Amino acid sequence: MEFKRFENRIYLSSPTMHGEEQMFVKEAFDTNWVSTVGANLTNFEKEVCDKLGVKNAVALASGTSALHLAVKLAGVKQGDIVFAQSMTFDASVNPVTYEKGTLVFIDSERETWNMDPEALKEAFRKYPQCKCVIPVNLYGVPAKLDEIRAICDEHGAKMVEDAAESLGASYKGKMTGLFGDYNAISFNGNKIITTSGGGMLLTDDDKGAASARKWSTQARDNAPWYQHSELGYNYRLSNILAGIGRGQLLHLEEHIARKKEIYERYKEGLKDLPVSMNPYLPCSKPIFWLSCLLIDKEGMAKQNRGDLTYSYDKEAGKSCPEEIRETLEKYNIESRPIWKPMHMQPIYKDCDYISVSGDSCADIFERGLCLPSDITMTDEQQDYIIEIIKSCFA
Ligand SMILES: *Cc1c(COP(=O)(O)O)cnc(C)c1O
Repeated sequence: MEFKRFENRIYLSSPTMHGEEQMFVKEAFDTNWVSTVGANLTNFEKEVCDKLGVKNAVALASGTSALHLAVKLAGVKQGDIVFAQSMTFDASVNPVTYEKGTLVFIDSERETWNMDPEALKEAFRKYPQCKCVIPVNLYGVPAKLDEIRAICDEHGAKMVEDAAESLGASYKGKMTGLFGDYNAISFNGNKIITTSGGGMLLTDDDKGAASARKWSTQARDNAPWYQHSELGYNYRLSNILAGIGRGQLLHLEEHIARKKEIYERYKEGLKDLPVSMNPYLPCSKPIFWLSCLLIDKEGMAKQNRGDLTYSYDKEAGKSCPEEIRETLEKYNIESRPIWKPMHMQPIYKDCDYISVSGDSCADIFERGLCLPSDITMTDEQQDYIIEIIKSCFA
């Protein structure tokens, strides 16, 4: 079967604006509060606190800056051991390196693709002095958050939850972004809602939140002149972008509902292929930020990935992530390999890696692919994408 190339590119996940955003932005212009102070910032923070049920939210320039301040609040200093989920975006773990902490990477389990509590226990046996643990809710699917929380408590380690991909998801009835001592969400352009770029630090620790707020605006002491007793950063979100966020927040549930439909439609459409969708626990409510497929071992054609290049064999009845990605690209459709685990990255090759059940995250990286999950994609377009994927297994 011959397919037609889409004239307009189908994205993995692009920003979707609704109109209210401009109203809040206009208000900022009209009142001339266009910098890093103003009503949009105050209200955006309050609205997120109310929605999630957290005491403090500090609006920042990015999810990465939220993670950086979270890692600082967790007390990570030079040489301190930090356990981090290996399969993630490098923004989850780079803040530890900014603070000269020592990263130890933890494998994923198969039920949510997130930090494996068994590997985490093993890591604490090897490094009982670990200070801080960073689990992630990958692709909007909550990790085994209560188990990870309990292990952290048992060892007196702080938990920093990277909820950048999971705003609005819940685990056993509690929202993600509330399980750690310090937590980060992201409003980057491709996330479930966006401020164009931005993030927030979430915490019930009032003093910690006050410190983060101070650090984010160059850490000025209370004096008429510029007086500094701590290291500061220029990390505050602007009042204009906070206006975009307020408008977007009104549509969070609607975005989540559409993402779930997309996931269910892929699941149904791909059910006759040797693939499964990214898994989640029944006690959790994911937001399905990205729908991902995992090719069964028996359905995998031979695929070779080097650091920068790849090749694969064309085999009847089988396929591989690189073949599907390349084929979709031919028709102007974006897809993306699963996050390449940090323990496989050249920059982190010297870090220790703890796994107790084979190298699960390397295997998921090898066999998995993120599918276009854009909420403006039509059912017709998605059906077409499903047919193209099927053709790869012909
Ligand atoms: C997007 C993302 C971040 C970083 O957020 P930015 O707002 O882009 O800085 C961190 N961790 C994960 C898992 C992410 O997906």
